[in-house]
Amino acid sequence: MRVRFAPSPTGSLHIGGARTALYNWLLARHEHGTFVLRIEDTDAERSTPENVAQILDSLQWLALDYDEGPIMQTDRSARHQEVLASLLAAGFAYRSSATAEDVKAFKAEHGADRGYRGENEGAGAVRLRVPDDGATVVHDVIRGDTRFEHVHLDDPVIARADGSVLYNFAVAIDDLDAGITIVVRGEDHLSNTPKQLLVLAAAQQLGLGGERPLPVYAHLPLLHGPDGKKLSKRHGAASVGELRDAGYLPEAIRNYLALLGWGAGDDETVLSTAELVERFTLQRVSRNPARFDETKLRWLNGIYIRKLAPGELAACLRGFLLDQQGLDPDLLDRNPGLLEQAAAISQEKIHTLADFWPLAGFFFGEPELDRAAAKRWLGADGVAMLREIRVDLAGVDSFDTTSVQGSLEAIVARGSAKPGAVYQPLRVAICGRTVSPGIFESVALLGKETTLRRIDAALDRGF
Ligand code: GLU
Repeated sequence: MRVRFAPSPTGSLHIGGARTALYNWLLARHEHGTFVLRIEDTDAERSTPENVAQILDSLQWLALDYDEGPIMQTDRSARHQEVLASLLAAGFAYRSSATAEDVKAFKAEHGADRGYRGENEGAGAVRLRVPDDGATVVHDVIRGDTRFEHVHLDDPVIARADGSVLYNFAVAIDDLDAGITIVVRGEDHLSNTPKQLLVLAAAQQLGLGGERPLPVYAHLPLLHGPDGKKLSKRHGAASVGELRDAGYLPEAIRNYLALLGWGAGDDETVLSTAELVERFTLQRVSRNPARFDETKLRWLNGIYIRKLAPGELAACLRGFLLDQQGLDPDLLDRNPGLLEQAAAISQEKIHTLADFWPLAGFFFGEPELDRAAAKRWLGADGVAMLREIRVDLAGVDSFDTTSVQGSLEAIVARGSAKPGAVYQPLRVAICGRTVSPGIFESVALLGKETTLRRIDAALDRGF
């Protein structure tokens, strides 16, 4: 089996493209086949080297490695010209200056569903000659066979008058030369497939593809947002780069994207990449549109975060905070080991890597004070409580989680206050806000000196 992913570098890699890449990759790995990457950069105006670099970077980050390529489509133009010349010489294609108006006039005369046929004028754009009889059948692994009667198909334009080849021609020849056995791509390409098959059939009659059979196809279902509309920017992160910046883990994204149109058959939603490779088949790909829902991705990502060992999570966080969020490395480095400890006690509470710093940044530097939280919890009662806490915590010697917990629970037990009336003023004092990792763990990790200093600062501030 030989499959390919063929993105056009007219933008960054989006969720739909990433799913197509993933399905090709899973298929190749499942079947021990070959995954080819081809960059379709023939649209000179919209293709940029930056987009190529971004696509390669996104694939690498997603760990979707390819076995051959990247083949640049522009590097193949000599081959395209050669095939085009052969098709013209053999009469499989012809030059015609017919305009859209001419095609309209043809249809007015012969009927709207009659495919356009032109004359060889020796100049103008190149059209492929579609035989009048017979049909082209698209064998789609997901959708079954679709038959296109030739009599209804227009002779497709395959090159412009200036000789530059068009998409349906280039794709067909590139797939042929790369020996692609199955073309897996988005459903939006379905209508192109008969044209590509006609190009391939002509090339085959010229003996260009050797004895190879034509590829079969698999058109993947469309992607919708949670509201059932075609996936777009307003549904949240749209590109792989944005998902990365939002703090998702590549393995969680692979898992989630795999489920957009495919299911293992047993409602299992958490599937490691190894399990996906083992279980993935095109037979289980749905024909119905799939829904991309970032809330579900967040939930799944949280599961992957909790699966990591604290050291692994710390390494992911470090990369994310420095590379994605531009954090000063000194903030992490001046206290070796702190990141791992902070990660360990935050792991249960975060869904993405981006959730970490707002939750746990107070371990690494002075927190910003949330004024509303201070108003709510550091009024007269809160300040009185904080004074009491300060006295007790100052008496705790080994400042570990257990002794901190003992001390704070004793305060709750001897007063008539609810736990929140004890813990929330303390939380606001040490982390500036009412949300933090577990309060006992947080106080212990922050250490006695810093905890007492922050309590004093809050008392001094005088709410
Ligand atoms: N280059 C096309 C695109 O990015 C895909 C072509 C194909 O997969 O056949 O939409």
